[in-house]
Amino acid sequence: MQKLVKVTDRLYYLPSVQETDRPILGAIIGEEKTLLIDAGNSSQHTNLFLQQLKEIGVEPDLLALTHWHWDHVFGLSEVDMPSIAFQESYENMKEMQSLSWEDEDLDQRVREGTEIEFCADAIKLEFGNERNIEVKLPTMTFKERMTIHLGDLTCEIEHVGGDHSSDSCVIFVPEEKALFVGDCLYANMYAEKWNYTVEKTLKLVQKLETYDADIFFLSHHPGPLTKEAFNSLVYLLKSVAELTQKHAGNEEAIRQELSVHLQRNLNEDELETITFFVNGH
Ligand SMILES: [Zn+2]
Repeated sequence: MQKLVKVTDRLYYLPSVQETDRPILGAIIGEEKTLLIDAGNSSQHTNLFLQQLKEIGVEPDLLALTHWHWDHVFGLSEVDMPSIAFQESYENMKEMQSLSWEDEDLDQRVREGTEIEFCADAIKLEFGNERNIEVKLPTMTFKERMTIHLGDLTCEIEHVGGDHSSDSCVIFVPEEKALFVGDCLYANMYAEKWNYTVEKTLKLVQKLETYDADIFFLSHHPGPLTKEAFNSLVYLLKSVAELTQKHAGNEEAIRQELSVHLQRNLNEDELETITFFVNGH
């Protein structure tokens, strides 16, 4: 069972769970209003978060979604408060409303290539035989960006895109120097081979570098990243993107040059990142 973690008086999160694909859920607690980040992957997930917030006296007022993927939005039907999403996320969620989430239908979509096996497995594990999934639509949508005022804190929600999902948004809290990155830095998983593209990665990284943050929440990392850890992740993506371009997607050449550059053998994460860029080349 995940336990609510306090970062500061104004910032709490519920850690992610890998097996059932539960993302990090965030709470930004202003003097007047509290904003939640992402709705969770099921009623149980959302209620676990809401219950633990209640125990510390926090009653949230608003919820913002980072993107449309199931693990971030299925819990929305459990939430009785206005919710905010990027226009494209809303449209994707609307399309999801007509889908069935029963085993045979999930398996069929995996065979057709419109669903990912990893997600189908996580849905089966999270929900068991109780597949009472209702995709509730967000209350408000925006184009490009919007600011949410919580009293003494502001939340800037901005569309950034990227390979993982073209509707990806980030939420920045300048007063806390916190950036909720969602899944935007992860690869495109809705493809035959998981991949990154050079163009989208460089554009995204350039955008993310404009935020003056000290703490970074990536939805499926176990906990938030420090500035140093975030910078080294961004550095890896940028370096591999540039090397992929330079070596025209030649995996061996990219590996060799990155290894020389780092003056050590590459680790598993680095090798996987290279493979994803080669897949996207
Ligand atoms: Zn996602």
